[in-house]
Amino acid sequence: MTKTFDTIVCGGSLAGSAAAVTLARQGRSVLVLDKAEFPRSKLCGGLLTWKTVRLLDVLFGETPETMREHGILRYVSDRYAIRTFTSTLAEGTVSYPFHLTDRAELDNRLLYHVRRAGAHVREGEEVAGCDPKSGEVILKDGQVFRGKYIIGADGAHSTVRAAFPEVNLRAMRRFTAATIEVRIPANDFPETVDRPILYVGFVDAGYGWVFPNGDHVLIGICGLRRGDIHFAKLFRTYLDVLGVDPAVLCCQRGHPLPYGSYLHDPVHANALLAGDAGGYVEPLFGEGIFYALCTGMYAGRAVAEALETGTDPGPEYLRLLHRTILPELRGSNSLRWFLFRAMKLFGDGAIGRFVRLGAGPFGDMVHGKRSYHWLKKKDWGF
Ligand SMILES: Cc1cc2nc3c(=O)[nH]c(=O)nc-3n(C[C@H](O)[C@H](O)[C@H](O)COP(=O)(O)OP(=O)(O)OC[C@H]3O[C@@H](n4cnc5c(N)ncnc54)[C@H](O)[C@@H]3O)c2cc1C
Repeated sequence: MTKTFDTIVCGGSLAGSAAAVTLARQGRSVLVLDKAEFPRSKLCGGLLTWKTVRLLDVLFGETPETMREHGILRYVSDRYAIRTFTSTLAEGTVSYPFHLTDRAELDNRLLYHVRRAGAHVREGEEVAGCDPKSGEVILKDGQVFRGKYIIGADGAHSTVRAAFPEVNLRAMRRFTAATIEVRIPANDFPETVDRPILYVGFVDAGYGWVFPNGDHVLIGICGLRRGDIHFAKLFRTYLDVLGVDPAVLCCQRGHPLPYGSYLHDPVHANALLAGDAGGYVEPLFGEGIFYALCTGMYAGRAVAEALETGTDPGPEYLRLLHRTILPELRGSNSLRWFLFRAMKLFGDGAIGRFVRLGAGPFGDMVHGKRSYHWLKKKDWGF
């Protein structure tokens, strides 16, 4: 007999954990399915902004102190630098420090909270397909589960999304960035990295990063695939300019990053998409951790309300997304094209002038204290 749950959450990472914990704490039966066994490695810079640190506390009771205790928090810095290959365009401090984390440890810890809240978590279970109308979820090994609702939190390659006929996958792919990242011992990097550093001007519609991560440094690039860019070659040049031994290329990994591909209507029948599955990543800096947690929480809230009242969760989920998330993504998208064009017209220095002009508000915008929409004070409502 097929087992039935109030909700099946496909994907047990950030968006999935946020959705599952929200539902389980309201006493709903939740099944979380993830193809990986945790802790598993996840390609990510692990940088948390102010709004993310707040939301982790609200949702999971995790604070910088508890995250440090559990080996999640690897570095904290209120400084930043934006550079080209030849000069520093801007550097300074921001009103709240950036928190650099280990994603494998963070995701594992959140799943621990999901279990404690009472959800059923099954690791190593790959979803092969689903039917948003009947709520049936079919696993690769042939097992079938049924949920009154399905939440697709299964990342950029979402299998749940494939069952949404109205999603234009070609359009989504157009605004999905390629990324490459390596993690190397801090001692192997030619300088002491004591702040997140962004490198601009060498990749069209994208950038590079060097992030401190405790005794390691994360080096990565991302960019939209426009023209005939050869990303692996570009990454080799990047390492060369940074003075990093090319031997580290053997550990380079890539993963798609939604980069302006966010959906306006991530609902089909009884299924909702959250996190990378819905393209919810801020399209200037590629911040996805907060948006995965927040959309997961919203999807969970909308489904919990629907289960309570016997209504449809779609309108409530869309209302929450359109009220807080989509204005940010639209604002950030406009700003990125403005900055990329300004750099083309006036040179790389344009971004430095922009950041220096409004250093305080710019930092507050990145952290989420101000909105990407005209730098208005932002109230996230959580
Ligand atoms: C190189 C890189 C660097 C980044 N750096 C940052 C950063 O510094 N700060 C920031 O805020 N964001 C960053 N991001 C973005 C951030 O990592 C993502 O936006 C975030 O992980 C999205 O979370 P998610 O829960 O939606 O999806 P994911 O974290 O991708 O999780 C999806 C989960 O679904 C599971 N899954 C997938 N398919 C199936 C299936 N068929 N069946 C069952 N389970 C499945 C996977 O195993 C996985 O656990 C970065 C991204 C990349 C690629």
